[in-house]
Amino acid sequence: MRFRGALVATVVALFSLVAVRVTADEVAAIDDADLANAAASSGSWPAHGRTWSEQRYSPLQTLNVGNIAGLQLAWRHDTGTRRGLEATPIVVDGVMYTTTTWSVVIALDARTGAPLWRWDPKVPREIGQIACCDVVNRGVAVYRGRVFVGTLDGRLAALDAATGKPLWEVRTVPESGAYTITGAPRVMKGRVVIGNGGAEFGVRGYVSAYDWEDGELLWRTYSVPGNPADGFESPVLEEAAKTWRGEWWKLGGGGTIWDSMAYDPELDLLYVGTGNGSPWVRQLRSPGGGDNLFLSSILALDPADGRLVWHYQTTPGDTWDFTATQHIVLADLVIEGRERKVLMQAPKNGFYYVLDRKTGELVSAEAFVEVTWASGVDPETGRPREREGQDYSEGLEFVKPTFFGGHNWQPMSFNPGTGLAYIPAQEILGAYRRDPDFKPVVNEFNVGTDLNVFSAFGPSAVSGHLLAWDPVAQREVWRIPHGLPWNGGTLTTAGNLVFQGTADGRFVAYRATDGRVLWTTHTGSGVIAAPVTYALDGVQYVSVMAGWGGAFAQIGGPAALGVENGPGAILTWALPTSAPTAEEFEALITREGEDAAGERLYHVWCSRCHGSAGISTSGIPDVRGAPSKLGVGFDAIVETGISGTGMPAMGPYVDAAERALIRRYLESR
Ligand code: CA
Repeated sequence: MRFRGALVATVVALFSLVAVRVTADEVAAIDDADLANAAASSGSWPAHGRTWSEQRYSPLQTLNVGNIAGLQLAWRHDTGTRRGLEATPIVVDGVMYTTTTWSVVIALDARTGAPLWRWDPKVPREIGQIACCDVVNRGVAVYRGRVFVGTLDGRLAALDAATGKPLWEVRTVPESGAYTITGAPRVMKGRVVIGNGGAEFGVRGYVSAYDWEDGELLWRTYSVPGNPADGFESPVLEEAAKTWRGEWWKLGGGGTIWDSMAYDPELDLLYVGTGNGSPWVRQLRSPGGGDNLFLSSILALDPADGRLVWHYQTTPGDTWDFTATQHIVLADLVIEGRERKVLMQAPKNGFYYVLDRKTGELVSAEAFVEVTWASGVDPETGRPREREGQDYSEGLEFVKPTFFGGHNWQPMSFNPGTGLAYIPAQEILGAYRRDPDFKPVVNEFNVGTDLNVFSAFGPSAVSGHLLAWDPVAQREVWRIPHGLPWNGGTLTTAGNLVFQGTADGRFVAYRATDGRVLWTTHTGSGVIAAPVTYALDGVQYVSVMAGWGGAFAQIGGPAALGVENGPGAILTWALPTSAPTAEEFEALITREGEDAAGERLYHVWCSRCHGSAGISTSGIPDVRGAPSKLGVGFDAIVETGISGTGMPAMGPYVDAAERALIRRYLESR
């Protein structure tokens, strides 16, 4: 093999080449035990938040503070989209299952990124008009050989994990009504649980459970009461209706359960977070006041029948779009000498809540970002102490946090080793003013506030940071400023690591204890999704979907924030393994061709400065197609460098044959 001698010297990017073994009976055989126990499935990422506790903590420590600086790109899969990628991939049995825009499901070889199958639910494109925050999807659930996904147009589908063939499909939303699904389903005890969104468009929130085998609807629980004239679905909703005034049902009421869920198998409780009211303005929605149960709440449900066991409302009578749909994390913490089974959430309203997850009792709540709408949370009643005037009933008000939240859907993580939660936090000043001309329009954006006020404000008054928070002491331990808000979700590991992607396209590893930056790379697109980690054949991988979009894209997106935005991709990194054998190298060339070798060489020698896949996100030139543009200059530049620019002479590292491979790869970009 021509290039073998030279390449063996540069093998650092060559990873395990073991082919993935896929057979129908052993694929994705995840059961309840796998989902309950973090240690039992340490090499995989079997559920949305890794386990039912949703901690997004991995016990893997092959990657750790001592070696993380050597992390290199193992593979990259381009999704072919320029809209938001928000999914957390599931990785089991060597296969990665994830979603891209328009609810498309893909399965990839988790070792190489090679596509295995793809399922396009063919969502009608007009649904995009009622998607508040881009045509995104946050991922699938995998259970007993099946892959479950909620589609933007409100379907729940079960696919064969080995082939991607649909096995059943049900419609989970009414034919009329502006419902959408962007959240990932969760599965427990054979029940596939799925919610939906659309509160801005005037819908009534609910969550449904379906039988995993045949898609039969097992139960449905509404988060807000409907029209009393139609009768209440439960005594609980009849009670809840007493906290509403006027004719709230005409605009749905809201309270959609569009993202967060967690499950405690011992207590057998399913926790879901509910969203804001519809419309936002409390005086329009429920004239005369009231708490408007169960808006902006955490609900504990019996997963057998959907019955409400307890509730905790974070923002009674919400008027700011302060959803409580943000990531819910379950943990056992020692608080004042007592081990407490707690549930934690850092919702949009800016307070970090620790609740007793058996009873719903408030343990503690403190502001994790600047909060102006309330002076604190009363420990006795569990209610916020709302500040005068901040409800903008008298006119324009500036409020923190805003409807983008002190923290939004981007998941936080919790590390039982450090005892810290890692929150993608943001500081955004909100301008609220009641729209004096508000008239609801069916299936349109009905919030009742003057959003132009915010547009006039612009993105200059916004920032984001990674926040390490001690939930026992309820205090900040460290923070890393990112400048821009709308950064990615987080992952933490037993290797004392925290990973996060950023709005400006970086992907960073931090020391979990103190936030020291240990490793940084560039993805080529703003990152909003949360990373995952998994191990195969002794190699630990870290993977994230990079693709800017979502709510911030609607107000100008990357351009307004000064971020260049390349196409979306799944990027996966690992430590280089030992040099491949001649047979392995030959297999690589034969199997994937010389283009693959060029791609790997580029990522060994060039991507650190010029960006992953040639996409530069800094001032350093973007080199896609550059060899043609430069003509004969390419070889000379690579050979001798360009003095004064930082471009080094690569002659000692890359020979002529390797240069040709890199050139060919870049020309193909
Ligand atoms: Ca909302």
